Amino acid sequence: MLFDCGRGTLQRLYQLKVNLQDARYLFLTHLHADHSTGIPDLWLTPPVFASRGFGRSDALQVYGPVGTDHMMHHLQEAYSADVTAMTGADYIQGAGYQLLSEELAEGVVYQRNGVTVSAFLVEHVNITPAYGFKVEYDGRVVVLSGDTTYCENLIKHAEGADLLIHEVAMVPENLTEISEHIRGVLGWHTTPEQAAKIFTRAKPKLAVYTHLALFLGATEEELINRTQRNYAGALEVGYDLARFEVGRERGVLLQR
Ligand SMILES: [Zn+2]
Repeated sequence: MLFDCGRGTLQRLYQLKVNLQDARYLFLTHLHADHSTGIPDLWLTPPVFASRGFGRSDALQVYGPVGTDHMMHHLQEAYSADVTAMTGADYIQGAGYQLLSEELAEGVVYQRNGVTVSAFLVEHVNITPAYGFKVEYDGRVVVLSGDTTYCENLIKHAEGADLLIHEVAMVPENLTEISEHIRGVLGWHTTPEQAAKIFTRAKPKLAVYTHLALFLGATEEELINRTQRNYAGALEVGYDLARFEVGRERGVLLQR
């Protein structure tokens, strides 16, 4: 399963050697373009290779907020020439070209093979609704914030998680002049100070930053410093292709 699908997602999955048959359930936190422009690639490229043992031979199932059905319907319209041509070829398996969608409400959205995925509302200000996700398996819990500003509902759902993957946005602290544009965008996201408060209250075993919106020269070093002023727990800054092990005994490790 996959959570959000921004640009380059398929290339990253390939680099990680993920079996694309395992990436056939896509959960969208919200419909901003930077979380969804990778969808046509994820949908249409893997079926081409299905008969050669990699790729995807089943439908892509997308779960997302209201508006997801509309987006998936129009993607199918947009790519109808390709889908008609490719599924018309005898040697291409057609099943992978199906694009199914289901719109979310808060609560359990997926339950299979012991894995439960639940959606909860967050506050992304610029676009509504926006969701975070809680993934549970064998007593272990991973929570993804999606894009959000400080959100009480997220703290409620993230309490005691093994791994909390949270977004962040910041400008350097000593900056006095911030444009209206940057100030506006910061209001849709979570500052390091807000994140520290969230982590302190939710108490995950490990908090990890993702979606690093570091504006106007802000650095990861400052991000960590400002977070640790008010948060004493385990903290990592995420990076592309990072892997985590959510183990029962070893706890949560960042594998480098
Ligand atoms: Zn967003």
